[in-house]
Amino acid sequence: MMIGNQPIIVLKEGTKREKGKNAQSSNIAAAVAIADTVKSTLGPKGMDKMLVDSSGDITITNDGATILKEIEVENPAAKMIVEVAKAQDEACGDGTTTAVILTGELLKQAQDLLNQKIHPTVINIGYKLASKKATDTLEKIAVPLKPDDTKTLEQIAITSMASKSAYSSKEYLAHIVVSAISTILEKDEQAIRVNLDNIQIEKKAGAGIEKTDMIKGTILDKQRSHQGMPSFVKNAKIALIKAAFEIKKTEVDAKIQIKDPTQLQSFLDGEENMITHMVDKISKSGATVVFCEKAISDIAEHFLAKNKIYAIASVKESDMEKLAKATGARIVANFNDFSSSDLGFAGLVEERKIEDNRMTFVSGCKNPRAVSFLLRGSTDHVVDEVERAIHDALSVVKLAVEDQKITAGGGASASELALVLRDYSLTVGGREQMAIEAFASALEVIPKTLAENAGFDSINIMLEMRSAHKKGNKYAGVNVETGKIDNMMKAHVVEPLRVSRQQIYSASEAARMILKIDDVIASKASTGGGGPTGYEGEGMY
Ligand code: ADP
Ligand code: MG
Repeated sequence: MMIGNQPIIVLKEGTKREKGKNAQSSNIAAAVAIADTVKSTLGPKGMDKMLVDSSGDITITNDGATILKEIEVENPAAKMIVEVAKAQDEACGDGTTTAVILTGELLKQAQDLLNQKIHPTVINIGYKLASKKATDTLEKIAVPLKPDDTKTLEQIAITSMASKSAYSSKEYLAHIVVSAISTILEKDEQAIRVNLDNIQIEKKAGAGIEKTDMIKGTILDKQRSHQGMPSFVKNAKIALIKAAFEIKKTEVDAKIQIKDPTQLQSFLDGEENMITHMVDKISKSGATVVFCEKAISDIAEHFLAKNKIYAIASVKESDMEKLAKATGARIVANFNDFSSSDLGFAGLVEERKIEDNRMTFVSGCKNPRAVSFLLRGSTDHVVDEVERAIHDALSVVKLAVEDQKITAGGGASASELALVLRDYSLTVGGREQMAIEAFASALEVIPKTLAENAGFDSINIMLEMRSAHKKGNKYAGVNVETGKIDNMMKAHVVEPLRVSRQQIYSASEAARMILKIDDVIASKASTGGGGPTGYEGEGMY
């Protein structure tokens, strides 16, 4: 309904509505509460959370994205914070906790300004200016990196795994992560690209984390299809077949009516002949290993075994593609089209017993464009946390290789940005100046929380930190072991530039969006009659 230019909204009976300051404050309170739940997990000395779902399954983690994914959030503003974590995870694969804490702190600082009667629009403008200045500054203080600088790439991986339980094997894990990324990166004159889809992850509990393995090839959770086949093949010539090694029964039913036993025999001979023909075709090409997307009949298994061919049936389509990328083989749909030029290569194809499973390892590929990890850990919970650590490490090494720019961690960049923003705020002046200063203080929540979580007095540390940066030490950050201020570049606490850039970008976007809301309208739930969906600041999540 419209009267003049003014829309008139008629609200349904039972609709709850909150306006102006009230709406703003309860939104901020809810968002800050969410951010506070993950605060204690930040950094190498952060604590873990145990998440219990409705069926009693538990997850032990200190991964911000995982925690926020699991907890049930009702409040719409709090949901926006969860979105920040999701966006950060999708864009970078790491840095989610920081992004969420920063959003919370930007809102907390904004609340202080609102209390001093600064208009939300002014805060919004100030935050926008600050965010732009901060990301520009980040680009300037970032240090270039050579994509073949394995040592630094390993340090980036180690920094990202610092807060995970897999940290005990950090050097080894960092080494295989960097080796995996270096193997699959694609390079042309303009750019380097890394597609993480070309990395396959298999998991198996029952052994220590240090037994985790990366192979330049593919791991299949399947055994060879017949005991008579060889259990390993060296210098394997690999055939990837999309068609089935069998004669379909439906074709038989439709075409053949058997009237006496000799006919049956000749039909069976015919089937055998067709299958021998298929196996011959493969065998003559020189293939010693066959991965088949469809079924392999008993007779076919028998003939393949007789020809000393290692074969697996019903391989997933996605695994077929990875095998093609790893071994250089071409996937062939029809036996008649198959030739030796379609074969791929692997130094070794081998069946290995991992706990109570038999798995097939295709390793030693030449120039593979796909690799695989077999993650190990004593229990499923440990293996899952190793998976999260490897995910973060792969993600940051990818970003570092693609962008070739790194920044200092341990709260160093955030502190440097705070210093630059305070100077910048003076040039802006007016009430916006206060908002830019508030943005600077919000950034300092990062070193402050790292220090607090490590059990140190954050007030002293932040005083020292500010003075170090004033003296020109751009990379001064928190040493979480000693509680002193150290040069984070020298301490090898380094991160890809894109992680902090995305954090600042998405945290300030979300904070500004929440600040702009001055009206929350929640319609009554149509089922259950349970009233409004809890935006009132209590029972927020
Ligand atoms: P996020 O989800 O934001 O990645 P983490 O719990 O992984 O949260 O913690 C990341 C923070 O820990 C970053 O600020 C990073 O610089 C810091 N950090 C990692 N290793 C160290 C270290 N050795 N010393 C100080 N800070 C570190
Ligand atoms: Mg992290």
